[in-house]
Amino acid sequence: MKTVRGHVPDNCDIIIQGATIIDGTGAPVQAADIAVLGNQIVHIGDCSTLQAETSIDGTGLCAAPGFIDVHTHDDWALLRTPDMPFKVTQGVTTVVAGNCGISAAPFRMQDGLPDPFNVVPGLREYSFDSVAEYRQRLTTSPPAVNVRLLAGHSSLRATVMGTDLARPASGEEIDLMAQLLDTALTEGAAGLSSGLDYPASLEAPMDEVVALAKVVSGHQNTIYATHIRDEGDGVIGAVSEALETGQRAKARLVLSHHKCAGKANFGKSVKTLEMIDLARRHGEVSFDVYPYVASSSALLERFVGSASKVIVIWSTPYPELGGQLLDDIAANWGVTREEACHRLKPAGAIYFDMDEADVQRIMKHPVAMIGSDGLPGTEKPHPRLWGTFPRVLGHYVRELKLLSLTEAIHKMTGLSASRFSISDRGVIAAGKKADLVLFDAHKVKDLADFSNPEQPSAGICHVLVNGQFALRHGIQTDTRAGVFLGNQAA
Ligand SMILES: [Zn+2]
Repeated sequence: MKTVRGHVPDNCDIIIQGATIIDGTGAPVQAADIAVLGNQIVHIGDCSTLQAETSIDGTGLCAAPGFIDVHTHDDWALLRTPDMPFKVTQGVTTVVAGNCGISAAPFRMQDGLPDPFNVVPGLREYSFDSVAEYRQRLTTSPPAVNVRLLAGHSSLRATVMGTDLARPASGEEIDLMAQLLDTALTEGAAGLSSGLDYPASLEAPMDEVVALAKVVSGHQNTIYATHIRDEGDGVIGAVSEALETGQRAKARLVLSHHKCAGKANFGKSVKTLEMIDLARRHGEVSFDVYPYVASSSALLERFVGSASKVIVIWSTPYPELGGQLLDDIAANWGVTREEACHRLKPAGAIYFDMDEADVQRIMKHPVAMIGSDGLPGTEKPHPRLWGTFPRVLGHYVRELKLLSLTEAIHKMTGLSASRFSISDRGVIAAGKKADLVLFDAHKVKDLADFSNPEQPSAGICHVLVNGQFALRHGIQTDTRAGVFLGNQAA
């Protein structure tokens, strides 16, 4: 049994005894006890001489760092549903919000904003002029999980340009966005996100994005995450644009929910991963991925053509059609998919548009991180919202053996923490914050599916956030110990 160097305390609050520790670095597992005092891990090794208020028998369980969901749209859910059951029950202890160009801060909400501003429920209820204000709100009303926030390019555009977004920003507008972004980064934003595939930013040229990504690279420990301009027929060009943007701005880069959508593009991940590997010689590039062959987003004409099946999950003008297939709706109306889509908007959909071989190839890559891209607050959401992390551990690790358990945990913790500059989490070590998950590697399994998407997973036993139980014996507690994570020294 390995004993950790340094001070061994006389007592602690919680001891986890005899779990198999997967420390998040990708290192081999070890059997040891973990001692927690306050919000910190204070000792790893033999804790049999320590006194603790609470002991958890970890025999037969794996202990991992709390999972970091690097791709979320939880900015609003953290305020609307602060218990965050869809995250806690998966073992997630930190979420990166503000992805795909839309963030709650800095953002000035107004009527008439185009997609993707319709995709996230709650967006109309809350918007914050500054990251400092958002951070303050979360401090006053803490959620159950920790938060890292990206500042969204489309949110910046809406704040500066109003609803007039179907054009490039002027030089003056870019300067204003750059100032807002600079302040956001100073106030603790993790970086910039973009959603160049959506009407709100489709007309933003690369130069506009480079100018803002340069603001990011001027701050330490920050990153540029992009939902690229085209994930379908134009995926190669869009990956190339993202890589060039990162290089020109000298920004660390994340490609969001990497995929090759549409049958004509199946297999193109061989090429995109080659391009990414080449670019990694010149700068830091990584990406996130979710473990499903279906995506979910706004219902848009430009997305419906390439999917084998499209489920409409909600529609503002036709709420009664939620849950129906787009093809059935189109057939009933005697119109094309595109025309049906036009009539149903604003609406949200699930698109079956990926190839399993691409999903596996992307997930297996050494710089792939796991991120759910879940959309909380919608009725019948894509099951990724509740199932992503247990699905990787159950289906892709245990059943398919695509990844080893230590590799998979690294993609959910240590790798994610290093890319998003969360220096005191993502690894189990003395001195790190006590964000921990205990799970049964033989039983862990996602139970959420497309018919019943709002199901907690099996096999997640205990979850600690900042040293407090968020989930105990599989039951969520009412503790909300999450904090806003700003920019720390590396
Ligand atoms: Zn996206």
